[in-house]
Amino acid sequence: MTEHVRVAVIGSGFGGLGAAVRLRREGVTDFVVLERADSVGGTWRDNSYPGCACDVPSHLYSFSFAPHAEWPRTFSGQRHIRAYLEHVADVFRLRPHIRFDSEVKTMTWDGERLCWDIETTRGSLSADVVVSATGPLSDPKIPDIPGLDSFPGKVFHSARWDHDYDLRGKRVAMVGTGASAIQIVPAIQPLVDRLTLFQRTPPWVMPRVDRPISGAERALHRALPFTAQLRRGLLWGIRELQVQAFTKRPGELGLVEQLAKRHMARSIKDPALRAELTPDYRIGCKRILLSSDYYPALARPNVDVVASGLSEVRGSTVVAADGSAAEVDAIVFGTGFHVTDMPIADRVVGAEGRTLAESWARGGGMEALRGASMPGFPNWLTIIGPNTGLGNSSMILIIESQLNYMADFVRQLGVLGGRVALDARPGALRAWNRRVQERMRRTVWNTGGCTSWYLDANGRNTTIWPGTTTEFRRATRRVDLGEYDVLRVPVPQKAAEVSA
Ligand SMILES: Cc1cc2nc3c(=O)[nH]c(=O)nc-3n(C[C@H](O)[C@H](O)[C@H](O)COP(=O)(O)OP(=O)(O)OC[C@H]3O[C@@H](n4cnc5c(N)ncnc54)[C@H](O)[C@@H]3O)c2cc1C
Repeated sequence: MTEHVRVAVIGSGFGGLGAAVRLRREGVTDFVVLERADSVGGTWRDNSYPGCACDVPSHLYSFSFAPHAEWPRTFSGQRHIRAYLEHVADVFRLRPHIRFDSEVKTMTWDGERLCWDIETTRGSLSADVVVSATGPLSDPKIPDIPGLDSFPGKVFHSARWDHDYDLRGKRVAMVGTGASAIQIVPAIQPLVDRLTLFQRTPPWVMPRVDRPISGAERALHRALPFTAQLRRGLLWGIRELQVQAFTKRPGELGLVEQLAKRHMARSIKDPALRAELTPDYRIGCKRILLSSDYYPALARPNVDVVASGLSEVRGSTVVAADGSAAEVDAIVFGTGFHVTDMPIADRVVGAEGRTLAESWARGGGMEALRGASMPGFPNWLTIIGPNTGLGNSSMILIIESQLNYMADFVRQLGVLGGRVALDARPGALRAWNRRVQERMRRTVWNTGGCTSWYLDANGRNTTIWPGTTTEFRRATRRVDLGEYDVLRVPVPQKAAEVSA
């Protein structure tokens, strides 16, 4: 017989582990966490490239229910965040629930039994509720570059770093200048013989004010835990105030552009290079990047900035759209992830026999009621769903709000009792999405004059939350049953007659 669980969580990053902790707190122990890899950590397991670190201070980029007095630096590196998540899995005794090497291939809604049939690489199971925490940035994207297949050297993506390949003394092409690339460049520039950086659009870069957290500070947080909470609160509050400029008054961001330009001018003395590195869109339209060593690295004599995208590979020569060419030994892609075309959406088959990806395509793009649920996909919730991303703060705040929603969803199912499912109403989704897109119109992400991964192929912003994290928390505190149809297992004819 196929195994059945109350809840199947997919993914063991911050979202999946957080869901597991919340389920246990809600008294739900009949759940599994299905993870395709062989350890926990998600983003922070997969991105081990040199220089990988968080852009949000450590005390804010951690669970509020699992404060960590021992963060060694104000901004944590990948190794420490990964270790933190391993620690969370241990402390909250999540390991018995986790099934590694279990990639979810398909999830199909069974409208008669009111449950999800799940196929994984390790067998099948069914679940009353699915919580999909497969991550917004977990499937790397490598652009289709003519000639790449026949490149004789090494090729890899920043999120699948090949640590066996020694970059020392090599000629390396780095493709992309996003959040990962600007961390990689200064880390590998001193090692390589030559670094050719392909930049399609320059990012805005602000200094990274990073420092070790002193032993005294850590001792204080250990002895008086409320001081760590205070620190977190302060970090959160500052970002909460900043967000108004992004969402309502992008004009105010001009001042920040001046600071970023000054930051660049301190390291880049060549006016021609400075011009190439200066963005022509409003700061904030793309994610603002933090680095104090990116520009100094670009000024080094072994670095060439090509202000054009990689368009072709001819043998071992990489060729940019503007015609410039370089011979290289390795190509590293820092070209991001499948965000607005998240792969898990192709693997969920809803009540009407359509995949989530097909439903979204029919509706014109990704959308979800309160960032979590979709009509026709009963009892299926996502963590970091459509329009829940943040441009300036910690995604952990959003994840925790979505966990509140998930916890109430499971609670409500319990209160309704019996075999029951909640299916988001199309009207509720439309109303929610109208509000989200209405608010989006004024934001810097839509008006700032850039093309970013926040926008889908139709130019619609289906990724960012256009408000404060407090507003999101309020909107997801409780499940409003008025926004859902309650589905029950049809009562067989005979049983109905007997009870009548
Ligand atoms: C390099 C990098 C830097 C970042 N920096 C920041 C930052 O500074 N601040 C910030 O707020 N956010 C940052 N982020 C965003 C980050 O992704 C989120 O903050 C957060 O880690 C997401 O957690 P998650 O659990 O939702 O997803 P993930 O951490 O991506 O975890 C998803 C998990 O699901 C698993 N999975 C996926 N598909 C399947 C499947 N079909 N079956 C089974 N398992 C599956 C994956 O293997 C993975 O373990 C960064 C992301 C990257 C890539």
